[in-house]
Amino acid sequence: MTKEKRIALVTGANKGIGFEVARDLARKGFHVFLGARDTEAGEAAAEKLRKEGEKEDYGEITFLKIDVSKSDSIRNAAEEFSRKSDRLDTLVNNAGILLDDDKDVLTVAPETFETTLRTNTLGALLVAQAFVLFLKKSGAPRIVNVSSGGGQLADGADGWAPAYCISKTALNGVTSQLAAALPKFAVNSVCPGWVRTDMGGPNASRSVGEGATGIVWLAADAPQNETGKFFRDRKVIPW
Ligand code: NAP
Repeated sequence: MTKEKRIALVTGANKGIGFEVARDLARKGFHVFLGARDTEAGEAAAEKLRKEGEKEDYGEITFLKIDVSKSDSIRNAAEEFSRKSDRLDTLVNNAGILLDDDKDVLTVAPETFETTLRTNTLGALLVAQAFVLFLKKSGAPRIVNVSSGGGQLADGADGWAPAYCISKTALNGVTSQLAAALPKFAVNSVCPGWVRTDMGGPNASRSVGEGATGIVWLAADAPQNETGKFFRDRKVIPW
């Protein structure tokens, strides 16, 4: 009997860590739905992986337009997805923004706070809600929320990027709530470390490949009974 090809959706996958996660999952044979809010950037990224895949035998790559900050875009994306598949095995909520790395908690503008939470926190929850019916068709459904060590409460805040860090603390709350609501799922948060991307900047300590590794492990290979936890480098870290 041939094993069914697994299917993944990665949001914010036109560049950075998300693109690398899409590539690694395609390398593992997943049919990857490459999510992006910008059609041109998303199509170009999907085409790049398809070209690579001709030589390296990647799984199928399908571009899916999805802006995680907009409910109607998420709804449209779920409808578009349903025309191509009725099952999803892995959702990687990777899309994220960092708008306030030069602000402190006493001066951060409410609009900045709202936009950040809408994208990084509510976006991940709404995408999970919209795609849960497809995930329920999987024998081993997984949701991976790409969080950040900046959201950890364990050692206290250091004052950097308050809206971003609070959005990731709250995203970890979303992970914990979804894990409780979906006992057959593996739902986890992961910190990729400090990664050289447009967000992380050129001085970050990790390559995109290194940043993607722990995410891909949770998305594809981690034990299915690991759920409701926060990981970095395949190890549980404090909330
Ligand atoms: P990046 O290079 O800036 O990429 C972010 C991606 O998210 C882009 O594809 C971007 O699309 C997309 N995005 C932003 N808002 C979106 C929206 N409303 N709808 C759909 N897509 C949206 O950043 P990255 O470093 O790869 O970050 C990926 C994830 O890792 C984020 O969740 C980030 O918080 C997390 N992270 C990164 C680091 C780091 O050091 N880099 C550390 C810890 C956690 P556009 O191209 O259209 O803007």
